[in-house]
Amino acid sequence: MRALVTNDDGVTSPGLAALARALGRVAETYVVAPEHERSAASHAITLHKPLRARRVPGTDAPVWATNGTPADCVVLAVLDLMGAVPDIVVSGINAGANLGMDLIYSGTVSGAVEAALFGIPAIAVSVAGFREIHWDPAAAFAASLARELVRRGLPRDTFLNVNVPNMAVERLRGVEITRQGTRRYVNRLEKRSDPRGRDYYWLTGSADDEPGAEGTDVRAVAEGWISVTPLRLDMTHDALDRELRSWNLAVPAM
Ligand code: MN
Repeated sequence: MRALVTNDDGVTSPGLAALARALGRVAETYVVAPEHERSAASHAITLHKPLRARRVPGTDAPVWATNGTPADCVVLAVLDLMGAVPDIVVSGINAGANLGMDLIYSGTVSGAVEAALFGIPAIAVSVAGFREIHWDPAAAFAASLARELVRRGLPRDTFLNVNVPNMAVERLRGVEITRQGTRRYVNRLEKRSDPRGRDYYWLTGSADDEPGAEGTDVRAVAEGWISVTPLRLDMTHDALDRELRSWNLAVPAM
């Protein structure tokens, strides 16, 4: 098994190291990751400047740092750096959950999305915490899920999103298969004044307090379960499709 690891927290992230270590025990593991943090880069790709990848010396696994986004890293790895298409791509381990509408913004998730676009089985992995993070349970779970996934495969244009509660492994209640919740961010813009009296803005926000509906990723993680969400790239809403067909829509008469 040949595995690619990428992330959006950057090549020096301890979550990336923990994941590469755990995968390294079950797969020939390659790391291609952004040279600095690209959290919330979503699926941005680099079209207007050169992409560079430099080998990071002194590491067991082959590691490259790039000036690209997570999606760029997957492209670089698959089409050149690894020399062949990997059997699996695992993106993470992200510091901070990727639940509900986080998926819209997440660079971690987009690493897995880019792999899915290549037809490669892919997992995004996050820990729901920012301080004193328990990386090892998430890393070990990711490695075992990676083996199972390579054995079983996934339908076309799908991937898995994993979120692990930030707690010692003995406290984890188990694994729950979930659907994407609706949690989103509130109070997202801070307006401030600089020393010269000019306005500037800082994007911020905190997750709304919704406990999350039964069966969602948000609820599962809040209750101490490892959440595994099967996701699709096709975002079509079938019920809305039927509804739209009853609307009065036509090419405008000019
Ligand atoms: Mn991140």
